[in-house]
Amino acid sequence: MELAYGLSTSLGGADCWLGKLEEIKSAGITGLELCLNEDYESQRALLPAALDTIREHSMEIFSVHLPFGETVDIACPNEEIRQKAQEKVLRFVKLTGGLGALRMVIHASYEPIPAQDRRRCLQASVRSLRVIAQALGELGITLAVEELPRTCLGNCAQEMRWILSQVPGAGVCFDTNHLTLQTPEEFARQMADVIITTHISDYDGVNEKHWTPGDGIVPFRAIHQTLLAHGYTGPILFEPNEYSRGGVPVTPRGLVQGYTGAIR
Ligand SMILES: [Zn+2]
Repeated sequence: MELAYGLSTSLGGADCWLGKLEEIKSAGITGLELCLNEDYESQRALLPAALDTIREHSMEIFSVHLPFGETVDIACPNEEIRQKAQEKVLRFVKLTGGLGALRMVIHASYEPIPAQDRRRCLQASVRSLRVIAQALGELGITLAVEELPRTCLGNCAQEMRWILSQVPGAGVCFDTNHLTLQTPEEFARQMADVIITTHISDYDGVNEKHWTPGDGIVPFRAIHQTLLAHGYTGPILFEPNEYSRGGVPVTPRGLVQGYTGAIR
């Protein structure tokens, strides 16, 4: 089965692909993930022009990546700060909830998470995630919690399972270049039944790099087979940096060719 290709884009500035939609379409990419940053006013200001461009090129909006950062730390154990973060995330949900995206991706925490605070942070995070998942559910949108590297919450299959067990209706956004405690193929095998969207890129197995698929160590063929075997229906959504391994500029065609080459 052919899965649709997507690409993550910011609304302006760094990582913004909106000026290259023609090139993106001709590479075979049919949809986008809008990756928001935590500066609400700037995102609100950039959105109308971004939507015009996307509609002009009849691209789909597959998903929205809710912002992450210090001002939206939904895992903060300080209840006042946590609630503020949650409220802020809900403003972004309101801003982008009617754009046609069926999924919204979220990080369970910012970082670093000190080991001694992990339990409390996890409790705080799921408190926020529940509220956000419910707000999305009312809009017909599914929350996708992304697995993260390093000390972030949700940095392995086991912890992701626990988070999901506490957040009814949520699924997983599988980032193939985020795993630092286990291999991506292992994570895929353990979580395939709950993966509802992807962030596809390559890395060195040590820390996230967001390289073009095929430039690092991710066994995309095995992962792709695992996802298909569990009924994954897509998309294959690229989340690259501007440059791949060795400073080679990333291109839409390179992403698609890298991936199709890697799963062959
Ligand atoms: Zn990602």
